[in-house]
Amino acid sequence: MSYIVALTGGIGSGKSTVSNEFSRLGVPVIDADIIARQVVEPGRDALRQISHHFGPSMLLADGTLNRKKLRERIFSHSADKQWLNNLLHPLIQQETQRQFADITAPYLLWVVPLLIENNLCSRANRVLVVDVSRETQLSRIMARDGSSLLLAEQILSAQTSRAERLSHADDVLNNDREPEALIPQIALLHQKYLTLANQFNK
Ligand code: ATP
Repeated sequence: MSYIVALTGGIGSGKSTVSNEFSRLGVPVIDADIIARQVVEPGRDALRQISHHFGPSMLLADGTLNRKKLRERIFSHSADKQWLNNLLHPLIQQETQRQFADITAPYLLWVVPLLIENNLCSRANRVLVVDVSRETQLSRIMARDGSSLLLAEQILSAQTSRAERLSHADDVLNNDREPEALIPQIALLHQKYLTLANQFNK
């Protein structure tokens, strides 16, 4: 099994930007959001259960999941959120382990936006947090998604706090500056992870 570096950070903090750079260095990237989509693809039992629980209106005309509607529903109904988590977490966990097992590189980057919220730190060998100031985060969310300041603030307050996330970090990448400023920081981390992976795999 490869050494597992989990990458997390708040919404719009730069996880994709960072993971693209690791990928460019040849590091295999496993994305928890992609796995979460795969387990509810049409034909999967989970999608049938969701449609049964919430009604067929939770599906789009083409039979795929209406993610926006589901997100809105669980945002305001905590029991439904719990139900959905209970259904999906074991399936996501199984699929994640399957994808981990296929990797032969010394280490892999596991991108998990909700690593802290879902209490998954212990599944990784190391936790890397991409960190930005609240101001940077709000302005990037608004610029990218066209959200209002109010909505961006609401999304942030529903997430784990910056301080809580940082308290779980083994390594921190600051992304308040231009994207190019990440490159030397990532190159250093890459060397460090290769060394750690080497010791781990001995
Ligand atoms: P999400 O959690 O919403 O998926 P994310 O953490 O993956 O987001 P990115 O998609 O990498 O974050 O970045 C969010 C937005 O900020 C994107 O529009 C990206 O182009 C921009 N961005 C990322 N890093 C920087 C940077 N250093 N300078 C300017 N813009 C940046």
